[in-house]
Amino acid sequence: MRQSYVKNDISRGADVSSGVPLCPVPDGLLYGVPGVAKQIDLDTLAQLGKKPTKNQLKMMSRAYRKAVSDSLKYRLLEVKDSPLRKSYLTSTCCCGHIDQVGQAQRTIFCNYRWCYLCNNIRAGILTNRYGPAIKSMSEPVFLTLTRPPAKRSNLKNEIIDYKKCQSACFKDVRAKRIRCGRPDPVNAISRIEANYNRNRDSYNVHSHMVIDGYDNAVLILEQWLKKNKSATIKAQDIRRVVNPDDMPAEMFKYFVKTITDKPFNAVGMDGFFQATHGKRLVMTYGNIRAVSDDVVNDSDLYIDWIESKIDRHIWQGSKVRDWCSVSDGDLFSEFVADSDQDYVISNLRYKKRDKKNKRYETKENKQVEA
Ligand SMILES: [Zn+2]
Repeated sequence: MRQSYVKNDISRGADVSSGVPLCPVPDGLLYGVPGVAKQIDLDTLAQLGKKPTKNQLKMMSRAYRKAVSDSLKYRLLEVKDSPLRKSYLTSTCCCGHIDQVGQAQRTIFCNYRWCYLCNNIRAGILTNRYGPAIKSMSEPVFLTLTRPPAKRSNLKNEIIDYKKCQSACFKDVRAKRIRCGRPDPVNAISRIEANYNRNRDSYNVHSHMVIDGYDNAVLILEQWLKKNKSATIKAQDIRRVVNPDDMPAEMFKYFVKTITDKPFNAVGMDGFFQATHGKRLVMTYGNIRAVSDDVVNDSDLYIDWIESKIDRHIWQGSKVRDWCSVSDGDLFSEFVADSDQDYVISNLRYKKRDKKNKRYETKENKQVEA
């Protein structure tokens, strides 16, 4: 059985065209209390042959990510004295309502790095925008550079220094190549990432990059080890890209693993978000131009699974986890969390699985809105 909500007293009296100020409250309900529930039988829908469209599936995925994202933001709000508290609160309004005009939809994204929903869309944007540059490389090589872990108190400086050091490596390699009569630039795209170690309260800052030319990758690696005496060769990785088509999505899937199979650590995550707030974590070298990764409304996601109308769909958090129509109370995406998704939303971690059965985690990590 599927639950739907009819409009409540507040939404019934709302003026859709003028917009209603949204007020986030801890349980994620952005539009007052839900009204009387009406029941939709999913089996009946199945018998009617109602198959979700591609766009509806995309919206269901957003509903799931919105639910995880809200849960995550409320946990981050529990971090006392964080200078980002106000921003965490503001971002709970991300995609809080969807305005429908005919088949077009408009919403507002928060665009913050901690937002599980925006990050997924951002990964898709970066994949699409940098994809052609990666695919056009004649010899793409995947290079991972690391340094010893940094303490939370020093993370901001570490990231600034890390970026400077990496850029200096490219500058030196370029100069070396020019001296050898090879003036062509070294093309590469790099993304900085950090893994938090709860026991040591430290971050393993590292960068992944796709670089054109195996010899270039080796030269960068050599420079990196020269400049970072405490970095070991064993902790670096260099490998040829076997399937360049999969590389862009792999490169941009996340900047920090917010959801893992370990307990969510709000203090550790807050430390990373503080250190990287307003900082660019994707860097380009050579002829590759940097592109914006701002999450904006996507006009191509048109509403083709419900009737064309003028309406506003308001996010109902808590147990509903879907947007609810102001005009008729119907649920928008008809997302229903399965047990694994329900577990992630409630616990902000994946269920621990044995090595033979890691399908869910892999699928989650790979899914971006490309
Ligand atoms: Zn967002």
